[in-house]
Amino acid sequence: MSKIYDVIIIGAGPAGLSAGLYAGRSHLSTLIIEKAREGGQIVNTAEIANYPGSLDEESGPSLIERMKNQAKHFGAETVYDTVSEVELQGDVKTIKCLTNTYQAKTVILANGAYPTPIGCPGEREFTGRGVSYCATCDGAFFEDFEVYVVGGGDSAVEEALFLTKFARKVTVIHRRDELRACKSIQEKAFANPKIAFLWDSVVKELSGEELLDTMVVENVKTGERTVVKADPEDGMFGVFVFIGFRPQTALYEGKVKMQDNYIVTDENMNTSIPGVFAAGDIRFKSLRQVVTAAADGAIAATQVEKYLEAQSCSVI
Ligand code: NAP
Repeated sequence: MSKIYDVIIIGAGPAGLSAGLYAGRSHLSTLIIEKAREGGQIVNTAEIANYPGSLDEESGPSLIERMKNQAKHFGAETVYDTVSEVELQGDVKTIKCLTNTYQAKTVILANGAYPTPIGCPGEREFTGRGVSYCATCDGAFFEDFEVYVVGGGDSAVEEALFLTKFARKVTVIHRRDELRACKSIQEKAFANPKIAFLWDSVVKELSGEELLDTMVVENVKTGERTVVKADPEDGMFGVFVFIGFRPQTALYEGKVKMQDNYIVTDENMNTSIPGVFAAGDIRFKSLRQVVTAAADGAIAATQVEKYLEAQSCSVI
């Protein structure tokens, strides 16, 4: 634990890797700590079509591979370890992991947020092969197919409306008989002829051959189960899940200012603690996309540099 890095970045998704690239290019000693593998949510995305300049049919993993190599090229180190505790106050921050403990003058929190899963059999296997958590990212793959949207909040109903641009029919599956979404969004959905509703229903199982083509739905009032099959001519359908998000902020509870469990920052990615920045989906913000995560990471790393310069001036 002798080395004190200029910056430790927690999380190697687009925000963390972008921060690593910018910090490395600024010749800051930079350590990225990643729990499992680089990429965050987009490792499950079959095609990234909305990141400016991404290659034709670029997959999430291939974009991440290039981001990873770029950060490494500019000198950012990566370790694979799980953060278990953080001490963020003071001039030197301590990040305890399961295997080692690391220290730095600044920290960028970039460990993301994850969509709440349904938790049914088949969901994980068919993610990226019919199951999606992002209509903006994957809606265009379902041009003229049938899609199902799970959830009844603002996200589910807004995304159902968005998906009508592509899908020939969108069925919202909600566990109650009325929507949680605000009235104005509901009215638009009820007026849209492409949107249907399956009330009092939950998804119990997802399956298929290569692609998702079968779903078991249960009526929560009667217990009756219905097997939904893809139109044989389509051979597949989409299931978009919007039942809330889970920011990965449990480690920071009571330490950093949060709103709705997301970390609050200013526009320069400063959190409520000096020398601690946050970037990407973990932040309280309006648009959670690869492009906004990468932008956050760049801003956070640039602000780290300014913070360290100011610190060294105040020492002199
Ligand atoms: P949300 O408001 O928490 O809604 C989650 C929906 O998923 C609810 O309808 C809930 O059902 C359902 N649900 C939760 N767990 C479920 C489960 N295990 N199985 C099946 N259904 C389940 O989440 P959100 O829609 O992502 O919105 C999050 C926040 O962002 C909200 O404050 C929302 O207002 C805001 N938001 C705002 C806008 C906008 O203003 N344009 C757009 C998007 C989001 P119940 O209703 O039965 O609980």
